[in-house]
Amino acid sequence: MGNNLHFSCLIQDIEFTVQENRLWMLQCRSGKRTGTGAVKIAVDMVNEALVDRNTAIKMVEPGHLDQLLHPQFANPEAASYKGKVITTGLPASPGAAVGQIVFTAEDAEAWHAQGKSAILVRTETSPEDVGGMHAAAGILTARGGMTSHAAVVARGWGKCCVSGCSSIRVNEIEKVVAIEDKMLYEGDWISLNGSTGEVILGKQPLSPPALSADLETFMSWVDEVRQLKVMANADTPGDALAARKNGAEGIGLCRTEHMFFASDERIKAVRQMIMAPTVELRQKALDRLLPYQRSDFEGIFRAMDGLPVTIRLLDPPLHEFLPEGHVEDIVRELCAETGAAEDDVLARMEKLSEVNPMLGFRGCRLGISYPELTEMQARAIFEAAISMTNQGIQVFPEIMVPLVGTPQELGHQVALIRQIANNVFTNMGKTIDYKVGTMIEIPRAALVADEIAEQAEFFSFGTNDLTQMTFGYSRDDVGKFLPIYLAQGILQHDPFEVLDQRGVGELVKIATERGRKARPNLKVGICGEHGGEPSSVAFFAKAGLDYVSCSPFRVPIARLAAAQVLV
Ligand code: PEP
Ligand code: MG
Repeated sequence: MGNNLHFSCLIQDIEFTVQENRLWMLQCRSGKRTGTGAVKIAVDMVNEALVDRNTAIKMVEPGHLDQLLHPQFANPEAASYKGKVITTGLPASPGAAVGQIVFTAEDAEAWHAQGKSAILVRTETSPEDVGGMHAAAGILTARGGMTSHAAVVARGWGKCCVSGCSSIRVNEIEKVVAIEDKMLYEGDWISLNGSTGEVILGKQPLSPPALSADLETFMSWVDEVRQLKVMANADTPGDALAARKNGAEGIGLCRTEHMFFASDERIKAVRQMIMAPTVELRQKALDRLLPYQRSDFEGIFRAMDGLPVTIRLLDPPLHEFLPEGHVEDIVRELCAETGAAEDDVLARMEKLSEVNPMLGFRGCRLGISYPELTEMQARAIFEAAISMTNQGIQVFPEIMVPLVGTPQELGHQVALIRQIANNVFTNMGKTIDYKVGTMIEIPRAALVADEIAEQAEFFSFGTNDLTQMTFGYSRDDVGKFLPIYLAQGILQHDPFEVLDQRGVGELVKIATERGRKARPNLKVGICGEHGGEPSSVAFFAKAGLDYVSCSPFRVPIARLAAAQVLV
């Protein structure tokens, strides 16, 4: 069989009959393999000297690995499955989940604590829901695209999620969800297929993930071939360890804001920092946050001993820390803790509210307006790095400035970070190596990449925001029109899932070329969600990037995709 044939042709599904001593071939088609089957066939055929390793690498599809890494439904072709699909949303995070509907993060945590399997159903999720999202077996949201909060967080944990399911109406107060013409209530059983976006009534039988020795052998061949490094997006020591287990060669994105939601204490200090009317009061709140950040970084450095850890300074619009639904509680809490008058707190909240927060007060604009914020984060990183080094751990911190559009913005933050580094090194009597770089996620930054590279030791493309800003599509609202665009062929793919190579990809190429012209040893990677999508990974490998960074559970897929471009 020629090498140029598609490898699923290796298995043929043949129907035949024998009649009156004559063989009749009825039909013949390419045989389908499960993930486990694909890996086993590839490994066995190499062991039996039927194919070489490069050929074997081409025989496994990246999607096959998804089946091995996540639970799957046992019988998705059966009528008992197909007949119960009640609606379909976006396949935001692969795998399968079965559980009882709950409508709040608190309920998800409480049900989980009672040993129940909960499916968290919400209009959309926000950072304050992370505890419940973690406790839930699966997540279903009415709003939000492939890079919405629910999708990104669930993918990071390898948790099944269906997002942007626009046909459902969720009433969190009444605890009811309308799905097409059905009303479902708290405690009703549903099943979610995060690989197809299907929502299924009742309980479907599950098959567990199927890791095997064959997979380990196969992945070792993949790693021998690929040149692109694969890092992971992880914000906690636990996620970092999961990433390492899946073969990550470092952390390519640690979103520090996720650490701020880890406890009530922290979120209270963050709110005080945001609401502080003076530098002194802001500093006081930051002083409370410093030990938390330092110990988080220590945990991550320990988990990633010997590997680089890229830490991004605070990025999201501040309103995310002041959720709309709880304004009265937050005002009461802030007044009690700081002694501020209710009117003053409300006035400051009003001042912080923005018409378009994703294009507003976020990214490096925060650290430039509140330099004490960058100072606290840099201090926590360097103090943690030195204390871990003192314990014999090898630490390679890389500090990343978000949402830069001009070299002056980056220059401001780089100067501050280096000044804090020198301070900490003097105080602690030790110096360590570190890098300062930036995300490239605003089209302007890509176009002036040569100027930006003069200040940056590395670039990491934030292709979620770069896609948002290049298309002008809000990543949180794209679900409103995307299905129409896909149905009419206006778009072939969701650009937040599959990189738009013609437009966004062109900016990636331009920025890489211009950046490396100004700084030949510039390290270049990507940490948007496209870092775990096979066709995008192939594009980044061909564009000469040094690494991709993706959720811990997509690391094996990215490793395979990076090898397949070379075989
Ligand atoms: C991005 O924009 O691609 C990115 C990685 O950052 P975030 O998703 O946190 O905005
Ligand atoms: Mg971004």
